[in-house]
Amino acid sequence: MKKQLIFDLSIVDLADQLANWSEPKFRGKQIWQGLYKQLYSSVDSFSTLPKSLKSKLDDSFRFKGLKPIDEIHSKDRQTTKVLFELHDGYTIESVLMHYRDRETVCVSTQVGCPVGCTFCATGKMGFFRNLTVGEIVEQVLFFERQLLLEEKKVTNIVFMGMGEPFLNFDNTFKAIDILHDDQGLNLGERRFTMSTVGLPEQIRKFADMHRQINLAVSLHTPYNHKRSKIIPINQQHSINDVISAVKYYSRQTNRRVTFEYALIAGENDDRQTAEALIQLIKGLLCHINLIPVNPIGTGITASSEKNVHAFQKVLEDYGFPCSVRLGRGIEIQAGCGQLASRNK
Ligand code: SAH
Ligand code: SF4
Repeated sequence: MKKQLIFDLSIVDLADQLANWSEPKFRGKQIWQGLYKQLYSSVDSFSTLPKSLKSKLDDSFRFKGLKPIDEIHSKDRQTTKVLFELHDGYTIESVLMHYRDRETVCVSTQVGCPVGCTFCATGKMGFFRNLTVGEIVEQVLFFERQLLLEEKKVTNIVFMGMGEPFLNFDNTFKAIDILHDDQGLNLGERRFTMSTVGLPEQIRKFADMHRQINLAVSLHTPYNHKRSKIIPINQQHSINDVISAVKYYSRQTNRRVTFEYALIAGENDDRQTAEALIQLIKGLLCHINLIPVNPIGTGITASSEKNVHAFQKVLEDYGFPCSVRLGRGIEIQAGCGQLASRNK
């Protein structure tokens, strides 16, 4: 039988496992802190555990689910992207972005993505499988261990790597609970940002959880027919269903939502489209994040700087807070899924 990854376990799962082995309760806390405070990555590091317990752990669990096989840095050294091989040979990528006092990890939740957005390198790969809880958690631990050497810590986590987190809903939230646990990494809920392509049912489910986790919805155009062309899953529900679900989220949580908007030259970057966007989202407490699209070799190109700023101005003049995310790390192929698809 394949050993389970130790990072798949919640603190309660770990306590249950120790009870099954008739081990004293405090061992659970000791192991948890070893994993999430001391950041151990092998059973041998647990020098204070009795040999018998170490061998039970070793027989039942793996302590490594990700093998780094490639690492690239942006020229300014502010962005690092790592390609990991999983136990079954698939590859995923994660990114660490340093910005002022923030160390943000961009985490993957799936191998590939079933949504298939036309501008996205991950979408182009197709879908292989969901990541396990532990595979999501370990991406953060990898960078936390690296940062420890510089006496720094991961401060923020964005689910903007490969895959659609709301299509791996339970594992993603179980991973958040592990990373959030106050006896471990203790990352506050507000430090997490869930990015979704906009699945109405899951947005409502998330709203009903009343969590302090940030929500970002990838909108990309206000027109339903155009959205269905670039985001095939939009054919299953209209853009109005997405916006109604976001309004529901807003009412339930009183939290500001972020709309992500990839600007594609000649596709969604003109004044009329900006005005239609305003009509679609007016009244919502939101922030708009404009991202000039990162070309992936399919003929789609980024809007010119002039069009980006003109688009931004229309939104800002109406009163929407709006920022432009520059293509940091483009030269290191930091666009979603680009390193993994190169490796394929
Ligand atoms: N599946 C989720 C999260 C992963 S993608 C989602 O779609 O939101 C994270 C963000 O990167 C999304 O906003 C997505 O639209 C954007 N993205 C994907 N490919 C891109 C590209 N080539 N250029 C710019 N943004 C891109
Ligand atoms: Fe999947 Fe997000 Fe890429 Fe679309 S943009 S294919 S939803 S990862």
